[in-house]
Amino acid sequence: MASRIIIRSIVGLYKDLICAIIAYVIKKSYVKGSDIMKDHLVKATAEDVRIFAAVTTDLVGEAVKRHDCYPVAAAALGRTMTGALLLAANLKNEEAITVKIQGNGPLGKIVADAVPEGYARGYVDNPHVDLPLNAKGKIDVAGGVGQNGLISVTRFTGLKKNIIGSAELVTGEIAEDLTNYLYISEQTPSSIGLGVLVDTDLSIKAAGGFFVQPLPNASEDVLNRIESNLCAVGSVTSLISEGLNANGIITKILEGFEVNFLETTDLHFHCHCTRERIEEVLMSLGRDDLQSLIDDGHAEVGCQFCGKKYQFTADKLEALKS
Ligand SMILES: [Zn+2]
Repeated sequence: MASRIIIRSIVGLYKDLICAIIAYVIKKSYVKGSDIMKDHLVKATAEDVRIFAAVTTDLVGEAVKRHDCYPVAAAALGRTMTGALLLAANLKNEEAITVKIQGNGPLGKIVADAVPEGYARGYVDNPHVDLPLNAKGKIDVAGGVGQNGLISVTRFTGLKKNIIGSAELVTGEIAEDLTNYLYISEQTPSSIGLGVLVDTDLSIKAAGGFFVQPLPNASEDVLNRIESNLCAVGSVTSLISEGLNANGIITKILEGFEVNFLETTDLHFHCHCTRERIEEVLMSLGRDDLQSLIDDGHAEVGCQFCGKKYQFTADKLEALKS
């Protein structure tokens, strides 16, 4: 009798535990969907359209933390890195892309590198720019970037000649600038959406984007349906905050289309700097500059892209000089 009661209470406890775990999982997926979603990019096609969508919350968060970005810089850098990943998704394996935005605003230059394997890194010249919200109550990315300047895209093909294209900035909001760049430089009409939602503690609540491109033979009807869907979906970050992954974003944008989902790629922040590369930079300095570092007794060189610090003793610098 006593053992039955013990077994029953153990079963009861076990049930309570299972219920608590199920409740926790449900709460996690509904309340904070983006917290448990890993960064990823999905490619898909539909009737005369191709589309990529990406969730980049973690990798943007990592970049923002490493560079100690304030909200304007966080949004601008996050949008640029996400845009670079969307463009990189078009490349062949082992190619790479650099997106550089040089506007006349206080942020200075914003640079992002990405590869089709899903890695990105980036930096912004002035991460501590602080601006009031714009007239729409949003982070003033255009005010930080500036509306005059250039967006340039370099495609590293692994061959001797890299392909470089550029276009004037149109709004400084980055997504429109990239869309315009593709139209001007590559004669391809497309639509790019990018978003970064910064929390009050400067962490990243949601980040991501999409790239939609109608194929050259797409009918007027297809173009109209995509346009009206794009108007209806709202911001990318609101979709990600609702817990949608890249497949969900694509489904929303291509509502009414039969979508053919292709591959999914995991995305990560990754910098390929090494001590050897930093040594090469030091060796490229003139002998006088290197000597002045030796005279200081020590040098600390930080990687611009990831903030990693490399230390060099006077003896090591002396060896590099010779
Ligand atoms: Zn680095």
